[in-house]
Amino acid sequence: MSHKLQVGEMKAAYLTDKEIWAHFNFIYSPKSKNSTTYKFVLIKSILENLYKINVMGAIYGDTGCTIYDFDNGKEQLKLNSTFYSFMQRFQRVLNYLTNYHLALFLEKFNEKGDTTNLLLKVENVSKRSSLDQFYQVLSSFYNGKCFYCGKTIKKENAHVDHFIPWSFVQADQLWNLVIACSTCNLSKSDKLANEPFLETMIDRNESLISITALRIREDMQVYSSKKLKDLYHFSVENGFTDFWVPKKMIL
Ligand SMILES: [Zn+2]
Repeated sequence: MSHKLQVGEMKAAYLTDKEIWAHFNFIYSPKSKNSTTYKFVLIKSILENLYKINVMGAIYGDTGCTIYDFDNGKEQLKLNSTFYSFMQRFQRVLNYLTNYHLALFLEKFNEKGDTTNLLLKVENVSKRSSLDQFYQVLSSFYNGKCFYCGKTIKKENAHVDHFIPWSFVQADQLWNLVIACSTCNLSKSDKLANEPFLETMIDRNESLISITALRIREDMQVYSSKKLKDLYHFSVENGFTDFWVPKKMIL
């Protein structure tokens, strides 16, 4: 009956990690009614929107009404802050679990039953958007040098890089994007730059915020240096520990 609810209020203000894991175990278990993909897709979309403002949803009944408030009339969903922090801390494993269970579910309808291909398809359900628009914005405010190695970059060698790897943050937001030379971008790949770059990134974002046209952007409105620091440390906790540094730095 819970999917018919139009408004749900959170029942508990505080949850332990163990209690939240129990909710997820229930959602992934056969006890939860998974007649469609919507629960998995909802979890995926919450994970993908952790660093944006608004999320909406429908796993209310399964979680004992403790994880979020929702109001379909207002198209709003408010996550319990403990749950929000839980999802940030266990983001990677939750992504894997959700993809896996979504794949298992989809497999029933897949003629070939090829789970390997299916998992790839599931991974790519949320495609990264084009970064061209971010290049246009960033290129008018930076000094023409690679964020990481400091080398002067020609336009054709300029890449837009996700400071916190895309595979973790799963979103394109200006405060997490820098212009890097192709060498740095390609060698950094899915790695996290080492910690001194976190401070450089915070300083870079301060300078973006000082520009009114950028400060009023929707993605910059949700930025704070604390969020970036938290995200950096969450990604380390989620296994991004193979820290990257540029091969050659021009000081
Ligand atoms: Zn570089």
